[in-house]
Amino acid sequence: MSFIPIICGMRSFDSSYDSVPAHQNLYCPNCHNHSVSPIKRKEFFTVWFIPLLPVFWGKQLHCSICNWRQDFKNEEQLNKVVQEQQNMRQKLPN
Ligand SMILES: [Zn+2]
Repeated sequence: MSFIPIICGMRSFDSSYDSVPAHQNLYCPNCHNHSVSPIKRKEFFTVWFIPLLPVFWGKQLHCSICNWRQDFKNEEQLNKVVQEQQNMRQKLPN
């Protein structure tokens, strides 16, 4: 009798969402750096390192410093975040 272990795992792929300058370097509520940008993320369930089942397919805001993530659904929601941050910056006394 032989035993062949099935190696399962998770694999994720991040790619950039767009290259609009206003969408880059957003404020991170976790580490307080301006290092958040939108990404497209796909997560797969893998068997033998082969991606089989997509378990997550969506858009996220991602901080490149602390790895903070937050989902967003569409362009409208992203623009709302960007707009809120611009308002916040303008209110700050320099
Ligand atoms: Zn961060």
